[in-house]
Amino acid sequence: MTSCDKCSKPSVIVVRYSGAHLCRRHFCELVERRVRHELRRQMTLDGEERLAVAVSGGKDSIVTAHLLKRILSDRRDVEFAAVTVDEGIEGYRGSAIAIVAENCRALDMEHIIVSFKEAYGFTMDEIAEAERNLSTCTYCGVMRRTALNRAAKGWEATRLATGLNLDDTAQSILMNFSRGDVERLARLGPHRRAQEGLVPRIQPLRTIPENEVALYAMVRGMRHHDLECPYASEALRNDYRRIVAQLEDRYPGTRHSILKSHDEVLKALEQTYPAATLRQCECGAPTVSDRCKVCELVDALRRQRVSPQNRTETTRRSSCRRSP
Ligand code: SF4
Ligand SMILES: [Zn+2]
Ligand SMILES: [Zn+2]
Repeated sequence: MTSCDKCSKPSVIVVRYSGAHLCRRHFCELVERRVRHELRRQMTLDGEERLAVAVSGGKDSIVTAHLLKRILSDRRDVEFAAVTVDEGIEGYRGSAIAIVAENCRALDMEHIIVSFKEAYGFTMDEIAEAERNLSTCTYCGVMRRTALNRAAKGWEATRLATGLNLDDTAQSILMNFSRGDVERLARLGPHRRAQEGLVPRIQPLRTIPENEVALYAMVRGMRHHDLECPYASEALRNDYRRIVAQLEDRYPGTRHSILKSHDEVLKALEQTYPAATLRQCECGAPTVSDRCKVCELVDALRRQRVSPQNRTETTRRSSCRRSP
């Protein structure tokens, strides 16, 4: 077993893109230093903040919630809430919600749960069974983004943190670039431009590779959910996941280079594609056209009469505060 480059303890990781061998302590310090640096880049760390954290229960979102609490623990003017979206996927999301609730109790963090069924009248399982031209993940992604924004706004969040790691970010950049969706590249978070009706997003883990997030969760003993969604095979992202992983394996450092290239051209992209003026859809969501994408998707589902239900816009709050 090799020892750490910084001390004589056994190393827990060989960081291939830098060649560093690090022990548990020095690895955790490296991750925390990079996340702190990213936070400073993405937001001003003074003044009051209400931080909503999107927590699905997977390693990335659990690590994000723990790191935000750890890094900002000495700040009395920062309030936190975890927001979990229950898509209604049998045998998958239920156990994850229980794990999020457990982490929220440990972190003394409010836990807000918002369900597709309550917000839109359909579960993902019902949508998956419907006749449709789009993949389940397309419905799920659009509906989840809207549900998260609505819940964060309802809680009066000043920012919404998501658990996107470096691999996710590199995949998104490559995917949008390959599809010719350059405008979307200008809108990828973290959000530097505030837009009416949208809670600006931050991505504290965007420079941390997925394997390092997993190792961090393990060495810090964080309980998280690691089941795969039954609809995951429909995701277009899977191809990009493979491509980015292969490139990284052959040319260590590729993920960082993709991110760096995007950040280098971002200013030019933002000038070419200025933020669109947003209107308000009848459902209250911000939209560039008359109706938001979720309303269009839900209307189409209703027309197919897949378990039609009256739409309500309620959120459930679990009693996820640790008793004093
Ligand atoms: S894999 Fe697709 S359907 Fe499953 S939770 Fe993710 S986006 Fe939703
Ligand atoms: Zn060490
Ligand atoms: Zn709408």
